Amino acid sequence: TWGQVREELIKRVGKNNYVTWIEPLKLALLNNGVARFEVPTIFFGDWVQRNYADHIRSQLASAGSPVERVEFAVGAPSMATAPAPVKATAKPSRARSVPVEDLPGAPLDARFTFDSFVVGKPNELAHAAARRVAEGGPVTFNPLFLYGGVGLGKTHLMHAIAHELHTRSPDLRVLYLSAEQFMYRFVQALRERQVMDFKELFRSVDVLMVDDVQFIAGKDSTQEEFFHTFNALVDQNKQIVISADRAPGEIKDLEERIKSRLQCGLVVDLHPTDYELRLGILQQKVDYYRSQYRGLVLADGVLEFLAHRITSNVRILEGALTRLFAFASLVGREITLELAQDCLADILRSSDRKLSIEEIQRKVAEHYNIRLSDMIGPKRLRNIARPRQVAMYLSKQLTPRSLPEIGRRFGGRDHTTIMHGVRKIEELMATDSQLSDDLQLLRRLLQG
Ligand code: ADP
Ligand code: MG
Repeated sequence: TWGQVREELIKRVGKNNYVTWIEPLKLALLNNGVARFEVPTIFFGDWVQRNYADHIRSQLASAGSPVERVEFAVGAPSMATAPAPVKATAKPSRARSVPVEDLPGAPLDARFTFDSFVVGKPNELAHAAARRVAEGGPVTFNPLFLYGGVGLGKTHLMHAIAHELHTRSPDLRVLYLSAEQFMYRFVQALRERQVMDFKELFRSVDVLMVDDVQFIAGKDSTQEEFFHTFNALVDQNKQIVISADRAPGEIKDLEERIKSRLQCGLVVDLHPTDYELRLGILQQKVDYYRSQYRGLVLADGVLEFLAHRITSNVRILEGALTRLFAFASLVGREITLELAQDCLADILRSSDRKLSIEEIQRKVAEHYNIRLSDMIGPKRLRNIARPRQVAMYLSKQLTPRSLPEIGRRFGGRDHTTIMHGVRKIEELMATDSQLSDDLQLLRRLLQG
């Protein structure tokens, strides 16, 4: 039964969640109304209990094995997660004597702490996982891979981890930098013939955090070096945290072996913000601004208006609030809805920005690696027809255009062809988890 139940669960929870949370479960016991699973860590068990236990229970019931309780227990460590034995032959490294302050990292933003991070449904898991890493202690997943669109808090969380680790253990060698800086330092080391020093230094850290790793895609020698650094640290059981704008498997021109390495740990998605999270973030910032600009009056409904209208990314949302307060204090006026509309007209306009069918076609073509011209062309080959249908579907979903209008932009196709395409995708989506992952990603790329 567990085999069937797993099949069903893929559909229920989506492929990414399935691979991360369901696949690693080992059914240890199923009787007397109890299903017990072995999980790799306590954190893992808690998370699955909170988020997937109900799914598992209901699927077990429909498969004819109803249970009252679903339990998770930490199993014996598998070979893959067992700490690597410390190699006795390792020679003492000079690099380790480089003081923590002199590690070649990027400066940390003092404002990016866990305290200032507002937690909501879209970032709950990313936050929990980051907290777990920040506690230090034994490595539970390696690497932690955080991904999501621009301005959703990846960098904030990484800095928060670094701050927390510094506070807990000041001597811990925590190195945070962007992938771009990693490349820059590596190229510099090549130029100055100091590659050995570079290698030693990067292998001497306890925690390595690389932000925006998509940057090294297509940069061959940097990727190579990154791969070796990564492996060396994992072998020594050192924690690695990586961020990117998309899932490892979706990063183009990244070597397969790196992708699969990045997928080995915990891959967590920061979802686009929802209204509540945006409002929460605004409220937090307002508390701060009130202390900065004493005496300013903020009318009811302004924050709600902003949370409702500025949906693209948190950085822009924050920017809007900053500007609003600065402007109101300059002109000495109350912050009302009208003031907000006036002062933020440009931001509000651009977040209303209509997505064009042409943009959708371009992104979809890029994603599936086909030519833009094939979107409107006549080819019926499946590897072209399917992406074309995806673009039709997204055009229907994300723009207010009618079927005939969409048809015109797809090389003058009839509206029934468009309808057929849209239906086809809707139908496939239910069972094809790769397709539904693709759609999710494309939607995120298009909506920012
Ligand atoms: P990313 O690295 O994902 O592009 P950042 O971490 O740079 O995004 O976040 C952009 C801005 O939004 C930062 O100022 C950050 O503090 C803020 N921000 C994002 N998410 C949150 C959150 N959940 N709570 C508070 N601030 C947030
Ligand atoms: Mg960032």
